[in-house]
Amino acid sequence: MSPTSTTSISIPRLRDRFDGRVTAPGDPGYDQARKVFYGKWDRRPAAIVRPADAAEVAQVVGLARDTGLELAVRSGGHSLAGHSVADGGIVLDLSQLTALEVDRERRSAWAQTGLTAGAYTKAVGADGLVTGFGDTGSVGIGGLTLGGGVGYLVRRHGLTIDNLLAAEVVTADGRVLQVDHQRHPDLFWAIRGGGGNFGVATRLRFRLHELPGIVGGMLLLPADAGVIEGFVAAAGAAPEELSAIANIMVAPPMPFLPPEAHGKLVIMAMLAYAGDAEAGERALAPFRALAEPLADMVQPMPYAGLFVPQEDIEVAEESARSMFLDGFDRAAAETVVQHLQASTAAMAVAQLRVLGGAMARVPADATAFAHRDRPIMAGVGAVYEHAADRPAHDAWADGFAAALRGGPGVYVNFLSDEGLERVREAYPGPTWDRLVEVKRRYDPHNLFHRNQNIPPAP
Ligand SMILES: Cc1cc2nc3c(=O)[nH]c(=O)nc-3n(C[C@H](O)[C@H](O)[C@H](O)COP(=O)(O)OP(=O)(O)OC[C@H]3O[C@@H](n4cnc5c(N)ncnc54)[C@H](O)[C@@H]3O)c2cc1C
Repeated sequence: MSPTSTTSISIPRLRDRFDGRVTAPGDPGYDQARKVFYGKWDRRPAAIVRPADAAEVAQVVGLARDTGLELAVRSGGHSLAGHSVADGGIVLDLSQLTALEVDRERRSAWAQTGLTAGAYTKAVGADGLVTGFGDTGSVGIGGLTLGGGVGYLVRRHGLTIDNLLAAEVVTADGRVLQVDHQRHPDLFWAIRGGGGNFGVATRLRFRLHELPGIVGGMLLLPADAGVIEGFVAAAGAAPEELSAIANIMVAPPMPFLPPEAHGKLVIMAMLAYAGDAEAGERALAPFRALAEPLADMVQPMPYAGLFVPQEDIEVAEESARSMFLDGFDRAAAETVVQHLQASTAAMAVAQLRVLGGAMARVPADATAFAHRDRPIMAGVGAVYEHAADRPAHDAWADGFAAALRGGPGVYVNFLSDEGLERVREAYPGPTWDRLVEVKRRYDPHNLFHRNQNIPPAP
């Protein structure tokens, strides 16, 4: 059946089949169940189904295939493009799949994809072990891993996919495949960066690293062009144990800030040194020397301490653009200052992540994430309340991105709903053609199309 022709589903029959783990319009929990991280994706699916194992995931995939209803796959619900909820479609909600099996001897863990990065990190952290995900605990390990995974250990241990050893994947024809370097290596290559295009990952096996503690946390510096330029230079020169994320913004009135800082440009930096405390203090000194910190919460802590719970955060409207930069000089820093000061949004931010290290040593064709040589990832974003203001903030974000931009290229997980050309930018050179080929093999009818889509046919 083609993905566009639809037949309706019987909700009572669905409830019987999935032991009640189905939520449909009119149910008391419907609004909560259809909610995703970005509130602007206010969509009304025909059913939200929470499978209990891979066999049930295969049944939901079959249901979407047979009815033609659009399938939205959800792990943590943080898709910037709202892909994990669909009007009139079926949401395959993986939130019941939260098993974690740690094999301490082999330094690996099998994790079901309903886990969040925060839950996984806390659980393995109890034994002084770690796998690097992103900067936010509530993000799902499913979406984050399949797109790549750029976080606090990126320079030390590479992307999340560089630590992915195997996966269990339910394909469009309902098979449950065990996938690794030996078994279905083409699929294993594609899911390491190609997103949800090839099937539903139900379990992922990660490498674990020993990490008893870090020196990390937030460092808040007053910002001007010189400090911003200096920060990026310090992050590039730092040992690989240190990863830095600089969020540059006009300081909101936060309680830990002196009132005179409110409304001023600041760098809210998240720093993580994955090593012992003494070496960490040495590595952090150049950042602290850039300016008198407004707040310094960088300290020895468990790695999981970086992930503060943010259950109640709701992001209404956001205009954001992401890109890679090939360098960052004083002119770029001045561009950042000018555009942030010109924004009329409730909050405007530029985020700079200095990459390199272990991530850059992986060959570009080893996985579907090919941007191995890009030294900096940048994002600009405006957060505001009213959808009516979107055109103005979109124009601001476009102008800011154009002023900063190096060559083409984008990290797929930081794309919003930006069209096919931008998806192609995520997969430069031969990567795109290879992904199309794998897509043809495993999902020739594009059942999995609610994603940053790689169509099987031209
Ligand atoms: C606040 C915030 C902070 C972030 N920080 C980082 C960061 O530091 N580093 C980083 O790399 N990324 C980061 N991201 C981006 C994040 O990696 C992507 O948004 C990712 O897609 C979210 O995964 P999810 O499972 O929560 O999302 P979902 O919305 O559940 O899934 C997104 C898409 O991924 C696919 N998908 C999800 N799970 C599966 C699965 N099990 N099998 C097959 N396909 C699946 C589907 O196509 C789905 O539509 C951040 C996003 C947000 C909102």
